[in-house]
Amino acid sequence: MGNNCDKYKSKLIDIFYGEDKMTEEIKCHINNCSQCMKYWEELNQVREELDIFDEDIPIEYEKVNAVFKQVDVINNKRKNILSLISFIILSSIILAIGVLLALMGYGREILLLQTTSYLISPIIMLFIIKIRSRKENYHGRT
Ligand SMILES: [Zn+2]
Repeated sequence: MGNNCDKYKSKLIDIFYGEDKMTEEIKCHINNCSQCMKYWEELNQVREELDIFDEDIPIEYEKVNAVFKQVDVINNKRKNILSLISFIILSSIILAIGVLLALMGYGREILLLQTTSYLISPIIMLFIIKIRSRKENYHGRT
């Protein structure tokens, strides 16, 4: 019986890997031999475990991807907020300096500064927009 079982077990492995088909003869032996039945059940258990393992990877991959995308969005928002804050701080510093100079009696210089800043600010804004769009493009590529 031992040799016979070895023959069936090797056939069961072939069936397990899809290289052979389950025949009535093998089925009959499995149903009547507890040893081969156990062997066949163990093989199927391994397949189930492998199936679970295969399914787990894409799900985890999607989860990781989603987390990375979320981090990207948060980073972009943070960058936009930071550049806005730095712009507000910069403009309020310029305003504060203007007010301070006006209080110190440099009215004429203030007028001159205001005129020049009105002329220069569109150019500066254009420059800032250019830098920002370049940064965002770079970020989009990576
Ligand atoms: Zn057997």
